[in-house]
Amino acid sequence: MDIEVRVRETIEKYGLMKKSERIVVALSGGKDSTSVLYILKKLGYDVHGLMIDLYLGEWSEIHKKNMTKFCEGNDIPLMVVDLKKEIGQGICFVKAVLAKKKGLTGCTVCGVIKKWVLNKWARKMGADVIVTGHNLDDEAQNVLMNYLKGNVALGKGMGPATGGERREARGEKLNFVQRVKPLFFVPEAEVLRYAKNKGFDILYDRCPCALGTYRVDTRGWMREAMGDEDKRKIVDGFMEAVKGMKAGDERVARECVECGEVSRDEVCSFCKIVGCV
Ligand code: AMP
Ligand code: ZN
Repeated sequence: MDIEVRVRETIEKYGLMKKSERIVVALSGGKDSTSVLYILKKLGYDVHGLMIDLYLGEWSEIHKKNMTKFCEGNDIPLMVVDLKKEIGQGICFVKAVLAKKKGLTGCTVCGVIKKWVLNKWARKMGADVIVTGHNLDDEAQNVLMNYLKGNVALGKGMGPATGGERREARGEKLNFVQRVKPLFFVPEAEVLRYAKNKGFDILYDRCPCALGTYRVDTRGWMREAMGDEDKRKIVDGFMEAVKGMKAGDERVARECVECGEVSRDEVCSFCKIVGCV
């Protein structure tokens, strides 16, 4: 199915966003987030770009330049948040020193930092939702990685709207901006084809930080072992199996005592790594 049609259908079926809302798209500069930004703009949504400069040397510089040009060319406002100004460090120091002390490694650390910064800044920008570029391959990887970690239930709030459905539908209000994934059912290979066909002037390489991580290893053997149909079955089967289970974690969401952002524990994962900023 055409990727633009599939995005429109996913938005409608899961009530991901409305034309009257302010949609903030989290931009890494890669093919997924660039494509979803382009498609949402084309579909007539009020999109704004939000990019975190993680300080990954030339990698970040090129992505920043590309997104600035892309957003200017498509008449989309772009906010770039400087991680060093925001938390006092670039991502490499956080991963190599701070997170390591807590026994945390790999893409998990980056995920915690990004979520915290994105939530804070999207709220500042008046966002109704944050869009990320996660695709079907990412989601199938999550299911299998949780399975292999021996904790398949970790992913039970999974869906095109994180938490299973939009928070307002669950009556929860917090310092939290709902995250949504319009590419949830689109295989990575289709996104790649779309971005290349459109001739997006971006980097198509993988994040240099992710090399050798659990996620990249999983991606590698999955690519060898299965096709797009299998990934869809993994994701659909999992969502069906956990239907009706309480979304996410049973612990009630509350405000972190250190930073005030949404948290499951007294102190949020971000503050546990970075400390109070
Ligand atoms: P990743 O965790 O790198 O696979 O990225 C998943 C999604 O998170 C991307 O599709 C983007 O929507 C978002 N994202 C990743 N890196 C950044 C960044 N530096 N700034 C803003 N959003 C990002
Ligand atoms: Zn905190």
